[in-house]
Amino acid sequence: MLLFLHPGSTEQAGEALLSSLREAGLDGQIVAEQPRRVIRLRGAPPHSIDWLQRLPGVLHVVHAERPFHLSLKDTPNQKTTIRVADHSIGGPDPTIIAGPCAVEEADALVTMACALKRSGAHLLRGGVYKPRSSPYDFQGLGPDGLEMLSAAGRAAGRPSVTEAVDERSLDEIQEHTHVVQIGARNMHNYALLKRVGACGLPVFLKRGFAATLEDFLLAAEYVLEQGNPNVMLCERGIRTFSDHSRFTLDLSIVPRLQELSHLPVFVDPSHASGRRRSVAALAKAAIAAGADGVMVEVHPHPDEAMCDGPQSLEPADFELLANQIRLLAAVRDGQGETVP
Ligand code: PEP
Ligand code: MN
Repeated sequence: MLLFLHPGSTEQAGEALLSSLREAGLDGQIVAEQPRRVIRLRGAPPHSIDWLQRLPGVLHVVHAERPFHLSLKDTPNQKTTIRVADHSIGGPDPTIIAGPCAVEEADALVTMACALKRSGAHLLRGGVYKPRSSPYDFQGLGPDGLEMLSAAGRAAGRPSVTEAVDERSLDEIQEHTHVVQIGARNMHNYALLKRVGACGLPVFLKRGFAATLEDFLLAAEYVLEQGNPNVMLCERGIRTFSDHSRFTLDLSIVPRLQELSHLPVFVDPSHASGRRRSVAALAKAAIAAGADGVMVEVHPHPDEAMCDGPQSLEPADFELLANQIRLLAAVRDGQGETVP
């Protein structure tokens, strides 16, 4: 358990807190002084988290072993907004990222990108390097797909996002797209996180299947620590014993991340559920839970998709969902009166 002190806390404030903890029978130790003081508590505290949170000088109490700093809020209202083209991610309007799992064909992609834009998508997604579980599955079109994605984004007037799977693909991608995605499988690839931290583009970081909140924020920390402040965090489902959906969407991480971190928080209901019929409900639940945006897979003919067809929405269903997301976010933020 870590107690993060307010930024600028003095040595005396740290010592005073340690002695309050000692008086309560708790064994604490300062484990970081810069850029902020952090106390690690040994053993499970007999006191409630709320009690710890109320101690003078404590800003955050987190179940974690290792300190992280750059991803944490210094003040309750601190928020990173990331400007991509004409849209502010983390700003008042929810961000909608949509597109096919994988880029497949140029003309169809242009047509769909224009339709997605009309429906209200802010960014166009499309994988060109696909980290597939099986080496026998479609691996993506590589550089040709990258050209198609950026051409479709240009035609629709929408910035694009695609996944980098290694340093070589990152070098290619950063020439063509506006945002780089790091997928769930690479959330623990620290060399790649460092490289993407140095690349200068905003980073869409997906949570690993088995990553704790601490693991996730530490992965973000790798990017931030390289001087890249523009990181988005995306919950995309974790592995549990539950087998009725592809993964289990951990919506409870959304308010927790919003409470602790200033980084924009996204949810990907497509990979989480693996089922088209669940996507809209989970996307709306994510917005209701406080997400800054969603990433949704859409395909013009999902039954013919080369990758993730069963979880891809048809463009008409996406249009409906995008409208509902906007209405729901307005209600959530106190600007609307009716829930769709
Ligand atoms: C994707 O967004 O295309 C993808 C592969 O997602 P994830 O890394 O969450 O599995
Ligand atoms: Mn996919």
